[in-house]
Amino acid sequence: MANGKANRMLEAKIERKVKETIDRYSLCSKKDRILVALSGGKDSTTVAYLLHKFGYNIEGFHIDLKIGEYSEKCLKAVKELCKMLNIKLHLYDMKTQMGSGMCYLRSAIQEASGKGKLKNCAVCGVIKKWIFNREARKLGMTKIATGHNLDDEAQTFLINIFKGSPQLSLNSGPISKNVSDKKFIPRIKPLFYVLENDIREYTKSKNLPVVYDKCPCSFDSYRIQVREFLNTLEEKDKEKIIKNFEKLYSKLKIIKNPQIKYCSKCGEPARKELCKKCELLILNR
Ligand code: AMP
Ligand code: ZN
Repeated sequence: MANGKANRMLEAKIERKVKETIDRYSLCSKKDRILVALSGGKDSTTVAYLLHKFGYNIEGFHIDLKIGEYSEKCLKAVKELCKMLNIKLHLYDMKTQMGSGMCYLRSAIQEASGKGKLKNCAVCGVIKKWIFNREARKLGMTKIATGHNLDDEAQTFLINIFKGSPQLSLNSGPISKNVSDKKFIPRIKPLFYVLENDIREYTKSKNLPVVYDKCPCSFDSYRIQVREFLNTLEEKDKEKIIKNFEKLYSKLKIIKNPQIKYCSKCGEPARKELCKKCELLILNR
């Protein structure tokens, strides 16, 4: 098939899936002010590109993780994208705001917690989510959009099952619905049903400014193992995993929300006395 035609088909397929996901799960409306968490990678770039194309009110948000040359490339790509889309970009500098770059902070926390106890990506994930929520709220945003794709979600779903905690997948739907609180800004995943390979092809065919390197910090051996296993399957099998997730998700919705408290240290929504981020940072004292 000629390249042009294949690209147009892929474009139509991705756009249809994203539109369907937005409608089916009521991810966002034209009234929302959406902060797109932009890493500089292909997924979040695609989210911003499509939400902008569909006429949503979006602004970009980038955490400069201060991981050397990798972070410099990401910052450059994000700036280029926001300029191209003519949207506002909000920057968060890990060194000035948190006192150190993400890698350094993460290793200090892991060191303090005891070797092998905390996975790299889990630590970064907690800190990033804390930053997204706080900054989005300060900016008066009503939604936070991230680039999580079908492959990420299939991995998470399987990992939660292997861990014996499928209820953790409640955090993994196309929209966060486990917390309902005025201080909590809902997170949405417009690419929930889009395969990673399709997103890669899409950003390449559109020539979008994207950093394709993996974060040098993203070393979670268990997730890598699950990803490698999933990549031995056909794409339609990955889609089936997500279909099974849906069955569980619809049941999990009815579980009563636990009472939300506010972290006694930072004031952010929390399930316990301290939020997850403050629990981690306390280790780093
Ligand atoms: P990750 O946890 O690195 O797989 O990233 C998941 C999602 O979080 C990405 O698709 C982005 O939407 C967002 N994200 C990751 N890193 C950053 C960053 N440095 N700045 C802003 N958003 C980010
Ligand atoms: Zn806290």
